[in-house]
This record gives sequence, structure tokens and C-alpha cells, in this order.
Amino acid sequence: MKVLKFGGTSVGSIENIKNVKDIINDGHKKIVVLSAMSGTTNKLVAIANNISNKEPNEAVDKINKLHEIYTITIDTLLTNKDLNKEVKDYVSSVFNFLVTCTYKAFSIDLENNIVAQGELLSTYMFNRFLQQESISSALLPALSFMKIDKDKEPDISYIKKHFEVAINAAGNSEIYITQGFICLDDKDEVSNLQRGGSDYTATIIGAAIKAKEVQIWTDIDGMHNNDPRYVENTKPISNLSFDEAAELAYFGAKILHPQTVTPVRADNIPVRLKNTMNPEAHGTLISNITSEKGIKAIAAKDNIIAIKIKSARMLQAHGFLKKVFEIFETYKTSIDMITTSEVAVSLTIDDDRNLEKIIEELEKIATIEIDTNQSIICLVGHSVVNHQDTYKLFQILQDVKIRMISYGGSKNNISLLVDTKDKIDSLQKLNDYLFELVTL
Ligand code: ASP
Ligand code: MG
Repeated sequence: MKVLKFGGTSVGSIENIKNVKDIINDGHKKIVVLSAMSGTTNKLVAIANNISNKEPNEAVDKINKLHEIYTITIDTLLTNKDLNKEVKDYVSSVFNFLVTCTYKAFSIDLENNIVAQGELLSTYMFNRFLQQESISSALLPALSFMKIDKDKEPDISYIKKHFEVAINAAGNSEIYITQGFICLDDKDEVSNLQRGGSDYTATIIGAAIKAKEVQIWTDIDGMHNNDPRYVENTKPISNLSFDEAAELAYFGAKILHPQTVTPVRADNIPVRLKNTMNPEAHGTLISNITSEKGIKAIAAKDNIIAIKIKSARMLQAHGFLKKVFEIFETYKTSIDMITTSEVAVSLTIDDDRNLEKIIEELEKIATIEIDTNQSIICLVGHSVVNHQDTYKLFQILQDVKIRMISYGGSKNNISLLVDTKDKIDSLQKLNDYLFELVTL
């Protein structure tokens, strides 16, 4: 069986919802994972923020506006009177629940329950829409099988077992629809797989049922070779290896949740990225096949903090790096890039929640310098470090101040750290010289 995930824009307008129906209605049994309609999760987060800031009137205002949008969508999508009424009743119950949340004291559990409603709404509506169109479908409640453990990792054996229970309970059906993003935590409270987490839901289910393929349907023809938000003339990449895709997703290619390929790579389940608005386009196939050499794609990740740790004690001494790493370990902060010299080590993090405490600890053993507003530019491709074009990077970026370089950590990745203000210029230059064959 295949698992097909459709993102927020794919279920965000009547036209796209109808496209999704046509894509999935091909006579094959499948699992369909849906995101919330585009914009909904952002609004739900904003409502939770209003509650946290003790602004209940603003929250209620947003809830009412969102409710109106859903009412209009239902009236256009569900022309069958009975289904229209049934879905409106369900949607009203969700919005009434949101209003009751505005009377409550803020907590993370409350916020998680609020943001979970987006996927519950989209899947309920879509299931009933398929029924109206005489397509056999059933809902699998994600909260009955999707679970993370205390380290926020998917609990695969639990998921396998309970997914089977859910699918058996749903009975025979052509299309099984479930919610992306939402899950239970180790205490059985409603939680989620972080923003963009529906991709991750799809590959977790894919791994649990040993799917033939996982498809991620979005609003672009696959993963592009550079960031289309900042760079002109980007192009879709037709094939990526799991390693290449993982590096790109982690280092900023916004199209995929960073963990997407993790669950499926061991079982070699291919992940295909497709465009709901242009289903004929090839998209990107992520698999264990490594194709042509050289730099295939560039991505950038913002909000990076560089920490320079300098100590005379590091000179010809062992054990210094261990002490440094232990501090980051204590505060559960992962390090992205690292470079060292004999007397200093520079590293980057993107999680600043414990930055002050980390600095306090580091200052006991070294002198610390912090640079904020940094961006990691990540160049990915099979064996990029050995490729003949790689030397050109220094020429291409000769006018950009490069703060750190990571080369050789993996054969498939070269990472550069630049000031965020130089990011767009760097991305465009790399694109022109590496992919558009502008000569130096
Ligand atoms: N709706 C969630 C979000 O906007 C999850 C997803 O779309 O993947 O982050
Ligand atoms: Mg997404």
C-alpha cells in the first residue's frame, strides 16, 4: 500500500481539494495523510498566544473569523444537504471547544489541544466530501495510534500495533484518511510532531506498514536546487539519495520536515515529492540510488548562533572538547557545525533556549564570543567534496565573509556559515555560477 500526504495548500481551496480527490481516486487502496488547511495552524497558534497573553477577546475574534471561513468552504464543497449539516455541526463543536479554551488558564497542553484542531477539521471535511462523491473512505483517528516517547521520538512498536487496530476497526475501505502532525505523548496527552510534521506522520506510517512508497504532495514540483523564495531560476531535482534529502531538509529546504526520511531509509521505502497543482510533473524521487556527482542543491538555514570557545588550556591538551560537548549535552542542545584550531573551537547551534546557561558554564573553562544572526549555507550532492567544481566556491564567494566552513564531515555536504545579511547574495551567486553556468 502507498501512503500519500497532502499539505496545507493541497487542502486549502475548493479547487485543490478536488484535485486531491482526482489524484487519490485511482482504484488502489491507500492511506491519505492530511495537513490542516493552509493558514489554519498559524491562526490556532496565534489564538493560543492570545490566551497566553491574557487577551481572550482577541482570541474569540480570531476564532469567529476562522469559523466563518470554514462555513463558506463547507457550503461550497458539500452540496449534499445532510452531509453539509453534519459537517457544520462537527465544525461548530470544534469552534465552541476553542471558545471554551479562552476561559482557561494557558498551558502547553491547552496549546497542543488547540493546534491539533486544524488536522481534525480538514480530515473530517475531506472524508465527508469523498462520501458525497461516492468514493469509499474511512477515517483513522491519528490520536488512537500515533505516539511519541519521552524523548519525542516516534514509538514505532506502539504505532504499528495500534495502527493495525485502527485500520481493522475502520473496516474495508478504498481510502483511509488520517491526520498528519498530531500525536499523543508518553503521558497520553495530545501533542504534535512540530510544525510541518505531517510529512513525518506519512513516513512514520510508511515505515510501520512497510509501505511500497510514500508520496508527499505539496504546491511545488519537488525539491528545488536552491531556495525559490530568494533565488531566481531554481529547478526541481529529479533524484536524491536519502542522505542528500536528509541534509537538505535539515539545513533549511522548507519543503520537507527535517525528520521526514529518517523512518523510511532503513527499509528503503522511496519518498516521492509531487505537486498537487501539476500532478504530471516528475517531482523528486528520494531513494537509496545515488545518481550524478557534483553539487546538486543548495539550502540555507537561518537563526544560527555561532559560539567561539577559546582557551589556552586547549593547547596540546586532551579532554578539552569532551568538557565542551558535555555542557551542550547537559542542556540537550545539539551542535550543527564545528571547526577547530589548536587554541579555539567554533561551533553553531540553532536552539537558543539554554544559551545563557551554556555560556555561563563555558565561561568557567574558556573565553567565549557569540555571533547571532548567522545562516548555514549547505551544499549537497553525491561526493561533492571530491568534485572538480568544489574549488570554485572560494572564487564565487570571494566578496562574502565566510565565518566557518565544514568540509569532509560527510562526502555529500559542504556547509558554510555566513552572516544572514549576506545569505541571499551568496545563494544567488552560487546558483548563477554552479547551476546557470555563468563563468567566473
Ligand atoms: N499543520 C501543521 C503545520 O502547519 C503540520 C503540517 O502542515 O505539516 O505545521
Ligand atoms: Mg510542510
